[in-house]
Amino acid sequence: MQGLSINPWRGVPQTAIAAIIVVGVAMLAPAQGYYLNILMQASTYAIAVVGLVVVLGYCGQISIAQAAFFGIGAYGVALGTVDYGMNFFVAMLIAVVFAGVCGLILGLGSLRLGGHYLAMISISFQQILTLVLTNWIPFTHGPDGVRNIPRPRFFGISLEGGNAFLALCLVVMVLVALFAWRLKATKLGRAMQAVRDNDLAAATSGIDVFGTKVIAFGISAVLGAIGGGLFAGGFGYISPDQFSFAESIVLLTMALLGGVQSPFGALIGTMLLVILPETLRFLKQVYLAVYGAAVILIMVFLADGLWGFVDERLRKRARPIAGAVPRLPLLDQTGTDSDDKILVVDKLAKHFGGLKAVDEVSLAVRRGSVHALIGPNGSGKTTFINVVTGLYVATGGTISFAGRDITKLSPHERNRGGLARTFQNIRVFRGLTVLENVMIGAERQGNDVADSPDRVLARALAALEFVDMRGDAHRMIGELSYGHQRYVEIARALAGSPDVLLLDEPAAGLNMTEKVALGELLKRLKGHGLTILIVDHDMKLVEQVADHITVLNFGKRIADGTPGMVLSHPDVIAAYLGEPRNEAA
Ligand code: ADP
Ligand code: MG
Repeated sequence: MQGLSINPWRGVPQTAIAAIIVVGVAMLAPAQGYYLNILMQASTYAIAVVGLVVVLGYCGQISIAQAAFFGIGAYGVALGTVDYGMNFFVAMLIAVVFAGVCGLILGLGSLRLGGHYLAMISISFQQILTLVLTNWIPFTHGPDGVRNIPRPRFFGISLEGGNAFLALCLVVMVLVALFAWRLKATKLGRAMQAVRDNDLAAATSGIDVFGTKVIAFGISAVLGAIGGGLFAGGFGYISPDQFSFAESIVLLTMALLGGVQSPFGALIGTMLLVILPETLRFLKQVYLAVYGAAVILIMVFLADGLWGFVDERLRKRARPIAGAVPRLPLLDQTGTDSDDKILVVDKLAKHFGGLKAVDEVSLAVRRGSVHALIGPNGSGKTTFINVVTGLYVATGGTISFAGRDITKLSPHERNRGGLARTFQNIRVFRGLTVLENVMIGAERQGNDVADSPDRVLARALAALEFVDMRGDAHRMIGELSYGHQRYVEIARALAGSPDVLLLDEPAAGLNMTEKVALGELLKRLKGHGLTILIVDHDMKLVEQVADHITVLNFGKRIADGTPGMVLSHPDVIAAYLGEPRNEAA
């Protein structure tokens, strides 16, 4: 496993480079006045914009309240130092913790609300803060704002001078950017991106979708407040209008302009939006119009922002990872069909209004067997799988898995227990590479490798090797054919070493050659003793691999038994085999 790395930057002395840039910029900046202010503004804003990269870029949650968190940080420092005589950093810490808690609370809203509604809540939060800052005059000084905010000393070093304080802002900015950049390649960062790209697939891959969103909101709020606290120290004067709704939009624009998927994008976007208007001032009256047009043009032609454009080119140069990896653990097992019933479903029901999509269906999957669930289109197969994996709440009945009642568990808890699935309509994480998609599977809490990043990587490569896709590890998943995306989805499930694998119509959408290859893959999995519940209406595929077949029609179980028994059952022939056998095509 030595030498496996997905970080193309490994070995580059990032910290040293960053330090040189920081010190250089701070020393070259004039000690007073205009340019110092611009740099101070850009660096403190950039910290808040990196927060948006985390919540919006990574996790896909729109927050239009970043200026509010920025304001909490700024007012915390201002009121703490001026009115209460606190140390600068103590005041900042209090503000940052308070903002973090507010961020978590805002994130809690994502439990019941998504998308636009969540954005509305963040706008309301933003407006409430503006009202409080403006009207609670005894505490906040009201519209007049707070003056004479002091700059701190740090272990005897004075940060009171302009250049010294700018250096502090730049150092924090660089640290925050590095943090966010590293975060992206961690388990948590990948979980955020999975939630952004496909929350159902994330949940059934063991990710706590809600918890992940809440954490993203919390981190974003903390970064917003850190930026705001430094802003207050940098300018020495703040007032409520600096933290208004309009400023939240400015911060959002900076993130989108530079590239919301990357902290580098955030830095570029922020610098550009702070400096661009200043450089255009010579245009006098029309400068705002030119500025607006420039922003619109960049966004129209570079949808992923400026850094997104660069990033895509860098990624195309990435090389597949060489080196041998330990094989999937399932390769060490032998096929053993036993009497041990690992998944027992009893009288399961799911009703949609008056429609009984699943009507008191019972079945038992034996460990080591391939169990097929077949039935005509609309007979309730996908609904059954969705209830078993927790995406739908059962109307009635129970599901027991490895001796435990899982009927009430959430999808990620069921996956963590060892239940993995694929989807009839492929669900992959489109913003991630093939390898990252599969790593998310390997990171399933409870998997043997989950706690070691190196072993997660090796396991993901092994899973890709198993489905013969290792050569595509570094490609974006959207570049692959439908058939290959299906393999990646199966590899993602396999990487989590599931006890039972549920496959919902794995042959759907594949051409004949791909179907044959899929059949071979299923036979190999069966040969290794993996327990599989496969849903399909391609009879050829099912006949080849199934040890046991359950047949559904109109949500009801009409037959259950060995393939020989079931396929000659008169009801089955009438309901199902009477139809053309190639209907899947
Ligand atoms: P299959 O996978 O066997 O083709 P499905 O489970 O997708 O069948 O659908 C079974 C029935 O349940 C169909 O009549 C379908 O219209 C209905 N159904 C499935 N999902 C939903 C849903 N989310 N809301 C309402 N009806 C649904
Ligand atoms: Mg279906």
